[in-house]
Amino acid sequence: MLFTACAESNQSDSETFAERVEYAIALHGGAGVISRDIDPEIKQQYVDSLAEALELGRSMLADGADALDVVEQVVRLLEDNPLYNAGRGAVMTNAETFELDASIMDGRNLAAGAVAGVTTVKNPITLARHVMENSRHVLFAGEGAERFADGAGVERVEQSWFYTERRHQQLIRARERDEVTLDHDDSAQSMNPYQAIDDNKYGTVGVAVLDRNGNLAAGTSTGGMTNKRFGRVGDSPIVGAGTYANNKSCAISSTGTGEEFIRHAVAFQICAIMEYTGASLNEAARIVIHDKLQPGDGGIIGVSHTGEIAMIFNSRGMFRGAADSNGRFEVAIWDENEAEASR
Ligand code: ASP
Repeated sequence: MLFTACAESNQSDSETFAERVEYAIALHGGAGVISRDIDPEIKQQYVDSLAEALELGRSMLADGADALDVVEQVVRLLEDNPLYNAGRGAVMTNAETFELDASIMDGRNLAAGAVAGVTTVKNPITLARHVMENSRHVLFAGEGAERFADGAGVERVEQSWFYTERRHQQLIRARERDEVTLDHDDSAQSMNPYQAIDDNKYGTVGVAVLDRNGNLAAGTSTGGMTNKRFGRVGDSPIVGAGTYANNKSCAISSTGTGEEFIRHAVAFQICAIMEYTGASLNEAARIVIHDKLQPGDGGIIGVSHTGEIAMIFNSRGMFRGAADSNGRFEVAIWDENEAEASR
């Protein structure tokens, strides 16, 4: 049976078990230093695109779609949107190239697929799914992944497909400061309206889903971090760090400083705390994000096997959205308790 679990541990039992959740979805478009002074039009672009992605996932789930299909389709939509650091619009390496990472996991059977450092795959999440379903392996990297894409009939593109002037400018600023993760520039006079959200903001995308059959799935896709050394791989394609799903506990997608998420096996650790201690998803996620990681490292979105949603972060903001079968539908950027858009 699926019930709404306690989002906060002090909820009363009647609130806790009042409403059965048949399906739920949470998604993110990256965590980091996101200035509250961002251009209102740009902010609206983010809110609208998050709401569009959320509505795609919500409507698919309402129609009975499988969790994996929802994760793949919603991540693809965000990969194709140049606002996000995944697929088109990905950030650049120090060699002015694009190297993309992605992973997907099926909570039914712990099947997982991932790709790292791909340079010509238009939708890395789809290739990750092929790795999961059509190979005996979990993670393909570099040239081998590209060849596997050809065999699987997954679309490849020129590197120029991923290019946006915004990301090039971001790389130039990062190089000037010789940093991979930049100090935030709050300058209201900035000539570049995106700069206030680009520096020290991680634009990875991720989706976690509970479908009507009680199956969980999660997926994550990224261009990594601006000015990363070419060849660097972050947490997004690492099962247990950037992505995890287990029908016994939860589905998680991470965003933030990948090295820290790998060291702390963040996605797996949250699911394990739930399974081993009986903690709620929000309780488990808070322990890992607030007690294990350092402030500013990033955050996670997740859905539990009961339909509980968590969107927990220790950075100044995280682009995110949540919807479920009880009519919840909200998009938010900053405080954990706010909603920028809801219905
Ligand atoms: N976690 C990603 C990485 O380290 C970056 C992000 O979340 O935006 O590659």
